[in-house]
Amino acid sequence: MIKGQCHCGTITYEYRDTPPYANRCNCSICRRLGTLWIYSDASNISVTGLNDSTSISYSHGDMELDFRTCNTCGTTILWQSLETPGKGRMALNLNMADLEVVNSIRIRHFDGADSWTHLD
Ligand SMILES: [Zn+2]
Repeated sequence: MIKGQCHCGTITYEYRDTPPYANRCNCSICRRLGTLWIYSDASNISVTGLNDSTSISYSHGDMELDFRTCNTCGTTILWQSLETPGKGRMALNLNMADLEVVNSIRIRHFDGADSWTHLD
């Protein structure tokens, strides 16, 4: 179980899975957001405090993913399916977890900008 919260504490998550690694992705949006992604099915994830008044939604390109960022502190929380939010594959920003948790998980560099493979 990994718990995380945004900087101001408005939005929290619980991740009931074991990530094999976290992805630092270099695609156009992830490299700007500075996120570290861990993934699972939405059934393994609970999020509190996330709604349209506490967060902004951003989508781009093929408009498949809904990136959510806290309105108050600017922490990027997650991405989820734009069409079926809260269902299917989701990604959480591991940087919201306690530092010792962040430091304990292997980071891999994912080439989302080009080859869609890991660079390590
Ligand atoms: Zn916040």
